[in-house]
Amino acid sequence: MAETTAGIREQVPLAPFTSIRVGGTADALAICTSFGGVTEALAWAAGRDAPVAVVGKGSNLIVDDAGFRGLVIRLAGRLSSISVRGADTLWCGGGASLPRAVQRAAAAGLTGLEFGASIPGTAGGAVAMNAGAYASDLSQVLDWAVVCDASGPRKVGRDQLAMGYRTTSVTGDQVVAAVGFRLAPGDPATIAQTLDGFRAHRRSTQPQGVRTFGSVFTNPPGESSGRLIEAAGLKGFAIGGARVSPVHANFIEAAPGCSAADVIAVMDECRLTVRDAGGPVLHAEVRYLHPEWGIGPPPLQEIS
Ligand SMILES: Cc1cc2nc3c(=O)[nH]c(=O)nc-3n(C[C@H](O)[C@H](O)[C@H](O)COP(=O)(O)OP(=O)(O)OC[C@H]3O[C@@H](n4cnc5c(N)ncnc54)[C@H](O)[C@@H]3O)c2cc1C
Repeated sequence: MAETTAGIREQVPLAPFTSIRVGGTADALAICTSFGGVTEALAWAAGRDAPVAVVGKGSNLIVDDAGFRGLVIRLAGRLSSISVRGADTLWCGGGASLPRAVQRAAAAGLTGLEFGASIPGTAGGAVAMNAGAYASDLSQVLDWAVVCDASGPRKVGRDQLAMGYRTTSVTGDQVVAAVGFRLAPGDPATIAQTLDGFRAHRRSTQPQGVRTFGSVFTNPPGESSGRLIEAAGLKGFAIGGARVSPVHANFIEAAPGCSAADVIAVMDECRLTVRDAGGPVLHAEVRYLHPEWGIGPPPLQEIS
């Protein structure tokens, strides 16, 4: 791994930056600790006509086996810090761990973010995905975000981000560099009890201690993708090193030697089998890093 004078490392393996731990090497990686650093990194990429991809904790991301011919941006230092501002605002750098932010809010007696306790992403990634659980999501608590693109940092309100079910207007080359969550004063004992309940529920319903990226598919209206995949008889179904989790069918587990191609093949099989059984076409929740184009949806087979 070489490092340029601009602090940009070259030929960086990306699998260790993702929770499923598959995929190849990025041509370049910038670790940014300030808004100015993010702007510089974006300018570096623009000057080389290189595509850009932002990677948080990589907890909902498949990196292609061929890696990425562009610049990956990650946030660290001040842009991964967390602080309470005023009576009800939690300031998080885009690279801050969401579960740590939840802990910080709880310690300050602030309620509203508890649903994120077991979502193992960054604050920026969670806002970009509008992550959620337990009938809530980030759109319920987000006040503002600082979004950086080629023109520099810009503070935008929640209403400017078009936050829907696991979707926002944040594009693959925009960096959510900091966010402000507006929370409410709460009873610390009640907050702690809620967190314990959510964590216990996760332990009993989701695979533990294995490589996954959380939900594979979004839930169709009024349905559960996990239930549909399980009903199609695919729990435990495997291709190469990837298998449908025997614990929760909307999770894919990766064994040593698993490739991104194995994961995509299992996703294709789930979609085709559910469709053949008369179910809806499932849509990927997980994002995919294409070698040339950057972040987008996984390259799944076309089905109608
Ligand atoms: C065990 C497990 C449980 C999970 N449970 C849940 C759950 O309950 N609910 C849920 O919604 N998700 C869940 N997830 C998925 C995942 O944790 C969330 O989607 C999370 O928000 C992704 O954040 P990240 O930082 O890891 O983003 P990444 O996986 O790194 O990236 C995901 C997307 O966000 C973009 N992105 C990341 N950081 C930024 C940034 N700073 N600025 C702009 N774009 C950015 C990436 O470009 C990519 O498009 C789970 C995952 C695991 C492994």
